[in-house]
Amino acid sequence: MSDCVFCRIVAKEIPAKEVARTRDLVAFHDLNPQAPIHVLIVPAQHLVNAAAADSEAGERVLGQALRFAVQVAAQLGLSEGGFRLVLNNGPNGGQSVDHLHVHLLGGRRMTWPPG
Ligand code: 5GP
Ligand code: ZN
Repeated sequence: MSDCVFCRIVAKEIPAKEVARTRDLVAFHDLNPQAPIHVLIVPAQHLVNAAAADSEAGERVLGQALRFAVQVAAQLGLSEGGFRLVLNNGPNGGQSVDHLHVHLLGGRRMTWPPG
């Protein structure tokens, strides 16, 4: 989608600080980090969010995204100390970009409940 910021990052039309990339997924640093490490994992395919990914194809994409997120966490040295994975869905979920993405947050102790 040409007007989707994450599609444009995947297509390298908008610069981003990339951490890792496969054929189907890209991980890059969030522009407005909420933790010492804040990376977004996005599928190359435009899906709106996890709710929109409730299909066989979506299940595969989400599974791949979570697996990739864990691999990126390891690459960034977060495995031992732990990390948080977040998917915001829709307005009440706090989603601001309508392209499926997993937040990988680490480098500090997280609090609960989230805001
Ligand atoms: P959401 O609120 O939808 O769960 O998360 C969207 C995230 O994307 C936010 O944390 C925001 O800082 C990040 N973001 C929005 N636009 C850009 C951008 O152009 N580049 C990067 N690297 N991050 C972005
Ligand atoms: Zn998109």
